[in-house]
Amino acid sequence: MNIHEYQGKEILRSYGVAVPKGKVAYTVEEAVEAAKELGTKVSVVKAQIHAGGRGKAGGVKIAKNIEEVRTYADEILGKTLVTHQTGPNGKEVKRLLIEEGCNIKNEYYIGLVLDRSTSKVTMMGSEEGGTEIEEVADKTPEKIFKEVIDPVTGLLPYQARRLAFNINIPAEEIGKAVKFMMGLYQVFVEKDCSIAEINPLATTAEGDVLALDAKLNFDDNALFRQKDIVKYRDLDEEDEKEIEASKFDLSYIALEGNIGCMVNGAGLAMSTMDIIKHYHGDPANFLDVGGSATAEKVTEAFKIILSDKNVKGIFVNIFGGIMKCDVIAEGVVTATKEVGLTIPLVVRLEGTNVDAGKKILAESGLNITPAESMADGAKQIVALVNEN
Ligand code: ADP
Ligand code: MG
Repeated sequence: MNIHEYQGKEILRSYGVAVPKGKVAYTVEEAVEAAKELGTKVSVVKAQIHAGGRGKAGGVKIAKNIEEVRTYADEILGKTLVTHQTGPNGKEVKRLLIEEGCNIKNEYYIGLVLDRSTSKVTMMGSEEGGTEIEEVADKTPEKIFKEVIDPVTGLLPYQARRLAFNINIPAEEIGKAVKFMMGLYQVFVEKDCSIAEINPLATTAEGDVLALDAKLNFDDNALFRQKDIVKYRDLDEEDEKEIEASKFDLSYIALEGNIGCMVNGAGLAMSTMDIIKHYHGDPANFLDVGGSATAEKVTEAFKIILSDKNVKGIFVNIFGGIMKCDVIAEGVVTATKEVGLTIPLVVRLEGTNVDAGKKILAESGLNITPAESMADGAKQIVALVNEN
């Protein structure tokens, strides 16, 4: 799960990790009020969307007075920001962070991730703050330093100090940088983060070390014990189809192609996407209905696929193990009767109750193209989509 920058900063603040003063605003008036309350000479108007790269896209503006706050808030609110992380359709800005403007001396990068090769949390740092870390890794990898953290001891002060030295934080600021890193690590562990990225971490003319940006992601599997994190969820930032799918406990990820896929089992879902690609098609989604889906669940899954305007054809690829083919067939028939089906549908069924399943489909009177194998099904759906 992802949260907004201002929410991330709220969490950091509660752990004593230094962040600038700031307030969220949903309207231009609220933005102006927030700036007045801050009372700082310079304030920053920042678009709150679940994506980085806002600065370059015009989503971060420095305002020198209240009138400029008004102008920028008016300009950014309601605007669709397209950054390299939003995808081509961009994201509409519905919230702003009005924040104290800092007198930046230098920008650094600090990030915590779980490194799966060492099975340990790793803190990364670089003096190239403000730039994408992927770009630094690509062009000047020698400027990225890592500290692998032992889960038993946690991040040790000497490690934080070494990292601060390595990324050239000036001697007089090392103490504050170490305190910052220790606090950030505590947040990462206690809140079950999967990523905690501070880009940039800034040193200021006043001698402060603080987070100007904050990206915190959380492990979905830990949300059951992170109730106060779940409260931060912003459904506006999520795909409607994915929200609907999560209500029915379906693993669904929206993609950009035009072939809807309904599959049981994550592995089969992945290989179905692969084989569609192999035949030069483009999957519109990943969907795993699970091993023990009911006809009702299958119906909902099918409706979600059909609600995607980009979908020009559907490929149902089921291997009946625990899941029975007749249950899938029933779900497909019910869903198509409820919402109608005007696009091609290719179905490949194999396994438990396959004959019963095929019979239900054949007798439904629906225009269904049966497939003999995965490859055959993929080939057929790609051809049908290209015809239309
Ligand atoms: P993004 O990464 O989405 O572009 P950031 O929050 O990193 O957004 O902001 C982009 C840049 O704007 C930062 O690198 C920093 O130079 C500047 N900036 C952000 N917040 C402040 C602030 N409170 N005071 C001064 N400058 C800021
Ligand atoms: Mg940033």
